[in-house]
Amino acid sequence: MSGIALDKLLNTRLQQRQAQFLYRQRKIVQGVADRQSYQLANRTLINFCSNDYLGLAHHPKVIKAFQDAVNQYGVGSGAAHLISGHSIEHHALEEALAEYVGYPRALLFSTGYMANQGVINALLDRSDAIFGDRLNHASLIDAALLSKAPLYRYKHNDLSDLARQVVRSDARYRMIVTDAVFSMDGDLASISQLAEYAKKTHSWLMIDDAHGLGVLAKGQGSLVYWQVSAQDVPIYMATLGKALGVFGAFVAGSEALIETLIQDARSYIYTTALPPAIAAALRCSLQIVQQEQDRHTHLQTLIDYFCRAAKQLELPVMPSLTPIQPILIGDSAKTTMISEQLLQKGLWVSAIRPPTVPKNTARLRITLSATHTIEQIDYLLDCLQQVIVA
Ligand SMILES: *Cc1c(COP(=O)(O)O)cnc(C)c1O
Repeated sequence: MSGIALDKLLNTRLQQRQAQFLYRQRKIVQGVADRQSYQLANRTLINFCSNDYLGLAHHPKVIKAFQDAVNQYGVGSGAAHLISGHSIEHHALEEALAEYVGYPRALLFSTGYMANQGVINALLDRSDAIFGDRLNHASLIDAALLSKAPLYRYKHNDLSDLARQVVRSDARYRMIVTDAVFSMDGDLASISQLAEYAKKTHSWLMIDDAHGLGVLAKGQGSLVYWQVSAQDVPIYMATLGKALGVFGAFVAGSEALIETLIQDARSYIYTTALPPAIAAALRCSLQIVQQEQDRHTHLQTLIDYFCRAAKQLELPVMPSLTPIQPILIGDSAKTTMISEQLLQKGLWVSAIRPPTVPKNTARLRITLSATHTIEQIDYLLDCLQQVIVA
């Protein structure tokens, strides 16, 4: 096919997307002013769609730690971890993370997407099986599809549907994998029930705590929230670009698990290590998560305030106790339009549409952050009422 013919085909497909209101476009951030205000197209907007739940991406101490480390180590790691890229900063961060989440070891990955891919592919083969919640993050689904093990998707948070599928399976080993906090819904998987079920059926439980670490249980994450021991969740994964405000991800587990990943996780082995300065910044932000408890308290106040007011206003909020507060609209065109109207009012709230979420469940995904003020939440509620209820 010639380049012209290819473009013709692609343009047809793009036009179809546009007609369905599913076309995706990036908005260019020109700068980040104080707190939670972003500059786009020379306008200042209050950001209600970032995952920087604690405001650590702009914390002066974290910035300073990053700058100091750049001066010491330069900007790049220069190689993969197993060649010459594994610095004392990466190593110290792995030890700090393992201790914080209560596991013997932790292993850094460049992104959460890669961590999920690395773990699932290193541990499972064609004679095994993966059972995943239907609303799991795309990275878990892609990881499972890439592996040779079949993927069985159970109904959202439905333990009996999971059990039905597990009973039918004659797989050698079974892994149950779930988002701990569902990224587009904000609700929680019942980790204590899943842990109990996994133990009973000799399945391995893996949780993805991308939106739990730094947020739930004053930052300690889903295990502490559910009071589940590390032994009952043998594979714990979380990301470092959300509440921790920087970049990257890690897997925590036993000595044997981490050593296995170092041998076999291809997305760990065949890629350049994170810049050491990222690791240094992360060690600083991990300390702040533990020390600056005011951030957690304020975030919780904002969540409670938003939930109460949204209910009173009869906004179609979803059942979430986390900083992820989606407002279900349904229709993609309407959701896009509402998001545009909010933009006009100085509010940046992203419209989440299929295939990121199931058909007819397009929504506004509002995320709250410790850097927001009550006045900003009031303004958001006011505008939501105007564009949705009115
Ligand atoms: C964001 C996210 C990831 C991917 O992490 P990145 O570091 O952004 O690649 C994985 N799982 C969940 C649940 C997420 O929300």
